[in-house]
Amino acid sequence: MTPSDSNDWHWQLSHCITSHEELSHLSGYIPPTAEQLACAQQYPMLATPFYLSLANSASQDDPIIRQCLPQPAECEDGADKDPLGEQNASPVPRLVHRYHDRALFVTCGCCAVHCRHCMRKRVWETPLPPPTDNELEAAIGYLRSHPEVREVLISGGDPLTLEDDDIARVLRAFASVPSIEMLRIGSRTLVALPQRYTEELCNLLGSCGKTVWIASHFNHPQELSNEAESAVLRLMRHGVPVVNQTVLLKGINDDADILAKLFTGLLRIRIKPYYLFHGDPVCGTLCFRTGIDAGVAIMAQLRKRLSGMALPAFAIDLPQGGGKVRIEPNSFAGLAPDGTRMYYDLGGHPVLYAET
Ligand code: SF4
Repeated sequence: MTPSDSNDWHWQLSHCITSHEELSHLSGYIPPTAEQLACAQQYPMLATPFYLSLANSASQDDPIIRQCLPQPAECEDGADKDPLGEQNASPVPRLVHRYHDRALFVTCGCCAVHCRHCMRKRVWETPLPPPTDNELEAAIGYLRSHPEVREVLISGGDPLTLEDDDIARVLRAFASVPSIEMLRIGSRTLVALPQRYTEELCNLLGSCGKTVWIASHFNHPQELSNEAESAVLRLMRHGVPVVNQTVLLKGINDDADILAKLFTGLLRIRIKPYYLFHGDPVCGTLCFRTGIDAGVAIMAQLRKRLSGMALPAFAIDLPQGGGKVRIEPNSFAGLAPDGTRMYYDLGGHPVLYAET
């Protein structure tokens, strides 16, 4: 890899690491077990060379390796593939309308890294091409008839693995709906593919006619790179702010010291920590869930140490489109008759949440 290769996002995507063997040059490499290979068949491995360059070794203890190396436990949990009920809330293909004033649009199935904890692992099963013009027209037709939707979350896969032309088509389509005020792009490319933030892309995002925010997904301080910092600066020059959503991951970042370093590091590179999510109960990801009490205890420690700016909200996503609930120290509302925990939602109503 030459320096110019590594700065080219197309090169990064076309040289993704997809097998254990490609890690054999790293210290701490251990050949995969039969169970790991079987899991890789079900949930394939994929990571840009850049993302893997952030690893200190090939050891399973390394937070980068742990987030991209298939683990047998992923194939053993038998949980629901779509517990949030996204597919049931889709009025037209690719558009999910679950919240009154927000909708989500699924752009593609490609990513720069296959995160083992991904809540949309089901999308990996069937490659999803960029949206056709007809699909975009159907989505904006729906949004024009639902002016209560003010914000569209552009998601995937990872929307910023698309070519500029496809991104421009998507932005143009949503920007043409008068009632849409803001577009939020959920992307892990600042972490795994910061080379994607070319001058051209940043200009495209900043000049589409609506306010665009990037919702990034940093999970560990080892992911904070100089390249990401430069990309954020470029985005800011074009008027595109960045917030971050972290997922609390067992054995990766479920530790107050690690999260304190992550959240202060994010602020240092001009990204506001926004949410810390407890993992959704999605098939193939249960092994990463910590339990809510562990998250509450970590947040209690962080509250004593961090400024309000550095502190994200700890939240869970309720099953079947029930919405997000911020978990505060006084959020626990007791046990339902069947033993299921209940938490107060933002309206002060107790809502059910099964932890497993
Ligand atoms: S980049 Fe996002 S969509 Fe892709 S695997 Fe990771 S979490 Fe899932």
